[in-house]
Amino acid sequence: MLSVEQAQAEILGRARVLPTERVDILAALGRVLAEPIRSTRRIPPWPNSSMDGYAVRAADARPSAILRVVDRVIAGSLPTHAVAAGEAVRIFTGAPMPAGADAVVPQEDVDARDGVIALRGAVEPGAYVRPAGEDVREGDLVLEAGRAIGAAEIGLLATLGRTQVTVGRRPRVAVLSTGNELADLGTEPTPAQIPNANTYSLMAQVVEAGGLPLNLGVAPDRLDAISERIARGLEADVLVSSAGVSVGELDLVREALVNAGAELHLWKVDMRPGKPITFGSIAGRPVFGLPGNPVSAMVTFELFVRPMLRAMQGRRAISRATITATALAPIVNRGSRRGYLRVVLEARRGRWGARLTGEQGSGILRSMVSADGLAVVPGDTSIAIGDNVEVIVLREVSA
Ligand code: AMP
Ligand code: MG
Repeated sequence: MLSVEQAQAEILGRARVLPTERVDILAALGRVLAEPIRSTRRIPPWPNSSMDGYAVRAADARPSAILRVVDRVIAGSLPTHAVAAGEAVRIFTGAPMPAGADAVVPQEDVDARDGVIALRGAVEPGAYVRPAGEDVREGDLVLEAGRAIGAAEIGLLATLGRTQVTVGRRPRVAVLSTGNELADLGTEPTPAQIPNANTYSLMAQVVEAGGLPLNLGVAPDRLDAISERIARGLEADVLVSSAGVSVGELDLVREALVNAGAELHLWKVDMRPGKPITFGSIAGRPVFGLPGNPVSAMVTFELFVRPMLRAMQGRRAISRATITATALAPIVNRGSRRGYLRVVLEARRGRWGARLTGEQGSGILRSMVSADGLAVVPGDTSIAIGDNVEVIVLREVSA
C-alpha cells in the first residue's frame, strides 16, 4: 500500500509543464506567470511629496522660521524653481520635489499668509518625501516565474507598462462519468437511477485548479461506450474519469483505458475515503481513474489531480496550506487507513478549532459542502477535545 505522499510523488514525477501563451494582463488573473518580470522603469520616477504642504530645505526649517513661497507645483507638472535658502515651494501630493528641497512640511503645520509661511517646528530631512525608486528600481526582478498572478501583480505590471504577459497554458481536462445508474443533468432519474454529481463537482474542481473542463458526459458500463468517450477525451491534456475502477465485472474503465493505449498503475493508497486510484498515461497524457463515490471522487481529485494540474501550469505552489487546529469535539478515525475527514473550521481565541461536519460516509456529498478543510488523521486514532489535528485548508474561512 502506498502512502498518499508516495502516490503524489509518483504522479508529480510525470508532470510536464504545458506550453505558454501571451494574454492581456487582466486575463492573467489567477494564472501562472511563465516569465520573470524585470523592471524597465523607476517607480516613482522622481522624489515626490506624500502630503499637501511646502517643499523646504530641512536645514532652514527651524521653529518660527519664515520662508518665502517662490513656486507652486501640482501633481502632473514639473517644478520651475529650485528652492534656495529661505525659500519654500507650495507642493501637492504626488508632485515632483523641486531641486534644492529635501523635506515637505504638511500644510497643517504652517501659518501661511501673503506669500510667506511661518513654521511651527523643526523638520527632518526626507520628511514626507517619497524617494525615487522607493517602489521599483530599474532592473529589479519584481516577479518571478511560477508565481500566481493576483490583483497586486496586475497593478505592478501596469506600472511597468506591460499590456500583456506570458502565462502557463490552462490544461484542458476531459471529465467522464461512468455507470448504468447515472441520469445526467437535464434528465429525470428513472426509478433505478441516481443523478450524476461527479461530472459537475469534478469540472468545477478543474476550473478551481486553473484548468478548462471538457464534459464527456455519462457512459454506461459498456466497453464500447466508455472507449468511444475516452477517444474523444484524447483531444484534452488530461483525462479524469470517475467510477467503474474497482474489481466488479462492470468495472470496465481500466480495460477501456488500456485498449486506448494507456500505461496504467493501480495503487492501493493508504487513505479513506478513496478506493484504489488508477493513474497512468496515454501518449504522455495523464489519465486518472477516480473512485465513483461523490466524496471519494472529490477528495482524490484534491489530493492527486489538483497538484498535477497546478504543476502543468508551471505553478511553484502545488499544495494547499495545512494548519494545526484544536479539536473542538472528538475526531475519531476508526479504520486502519489514514482518514481525510471533512471538518468545519472556527476561529477560537486566535487559534483555529476543527469539528467534523457530521457523518463521514463517502456518499455524503453534503459533508464536502460543509467542509472548510480535510483533517488528516492516522488510522485507528481518536483525537480528544483540545488535542491538535492537522487540517488541509480547502477554502477561505472568515475569522
Ligand atoms: P463504482 O466505483 O462504479 O462502484 O461507484 C461507486 C458509487 O459511486 C456507486 O454507489 C455509484 O452509484 C456512485 N457514483 C458513481 N458515479 C457517480 C456519479 N457520477 N455521480 C454520483 N454518484 C456516482
Ligand atoms: Mg459503477
